[in-house]
Amino acid sequence: MKILVINSGSSSLKYQLIDMETENVLAKGLCERIGIENSNFIYKANGVTIEKQIDMPSHKVAVKLVLDQLTDPQVGVISSMSEIDGVGHRVVASGEAFKKPTLVTKQAMQLMEEIKDLAPLHNPAAIVGVNACLAQMPDTPMVLVFDTGFHFTMPDYAYMYAVDYKHYEKYKIRRYGAHGTSHKFVAEEAAKYLGKDISQLKIITCHLGNGSSISAVKGGKCIDTSMGFTPLAGVPMGTRSGDIDYAAAEYIARKEGMNVSQMLTYLNKQCGMLGVSGVSSDFRDLTAAAEQGNYRAQLALNMFAYATKKYIGAYAAALNGVDVIVFTAGIGENDNNIRAAALKDMEYLGVKLDPKANNNCPRGTIAEIQAADSAVKVLVIPTNEELVIARETMREANLA
Ligand code: AMP
Repeated sequence: MKILVINSGSSSLKYQLIDMETENVLAKGLCERIGIENSNFIYKANGVTIEKQIDMPSHKVAVKLVLDQLTDPQVGVISSMSEIDGVGHRVVASGEAFKKPTLVTKQAMQLMEEIKDLAPLHNPAAIVGVNACLAQMPDTPMVLVFDTGFHFTMPDYAYMYAVDYKHYEKYKIRRYGAHGTSHKFVAEEAAKYLGKDISQLKIITCHLGNGSSISAVKGGKCIDTSMGFTPLAGVPMGTRSGDIDYAAAEYIARKEGMNVSQMLTYLNKQCGMLGVSGVSSDFRDLTAAAEQGNYRAQLALNMFAYATKKYIGAYAAALNGVDVIVFTAGIGENDNNIRAAALKDMEYLGVKLDPKANNNCPRGTIAEIQAADSAVKVLVIPTNEELVIARETMREANLA
């Protein structure tokens, strides 16, 4: 059983072919600059990397190239396309139209068209990606897997915004969250690792990367998450502001002569760590600058750690305690300073880090970093969103 996972961006397409018997990645890669000059194709399999500059005027051409490479007699990993049993497509936004992974049908794609302005940079790309795959593999079952899917178990009082209710009814304005596949994966991995039944656990999952979100997971179900209607909300991120008083944004817009759309671009692209530090959105650069005494870089890092701490505190309250805190994604998995700062002074919650374990955390594997006398387990777990998409595809397409 082999599942192809596709993550389409407006000018890119990431792919992984996963063997579901072993859950090993057989091949993976990236098509960059689709529809732009100097398109770049990357393919990795069996320890070999192939990179070539090749014209990719459309996603359809990119998908054809991927399939040709996967079935190539020299470097391919399958002998024909018929070995691909299903295709899972990552989709950023679902609105309330899709509350779970959904088989690609004409009707589902019509609905996708109707909700595409919920994520104008991402959802149209997913539609293009699905159509490009259908053109090459019309008889292969395909499944839409949404970043929001895991969060639909939130209670109404957690997902509602205190706006005029008619705007919820009319436009479905509410919290949807994001990174759902990652939160689900690491919560389930945590339970498995600890040998506990997930239905008995209260877990706070911290997906800290270029985009960051934190979720409260009770009995395996999400009960709250920090991102909102879009991935702009929550903790401050690489270039996104995170939570902000909208009156402050309006004040800046008025003073700087920005319209609403310009303001949103500003909040998404020029704020966060980059905006505060003036140095970079990348935590490695920020750490290096802070070590050189750069006040604003240190301030940005402090703000990020403090915001993370506040969400952990809030979610411990929402969960009525916490058994496990999980860190994942680029920063969560690699940045020991952020983990330590976010969990500092949390003994009241039963959270105590082992500084040695935290500082020497091995990469690419699950690690426990709490002190021996910590009541709460603290785990670092590498995320694997593609595997969740592949598993959901198998389930939804009845391929198991
Ligand atoms: P992601 O979006 O999950 O790929 O995470 C990307 C972010 O992780 C980068 O922008 C970096 O800020 C951060 N990151 C990656 N590796 C490290 C590292 N070794 N130390 C600190 N931060 C890292």
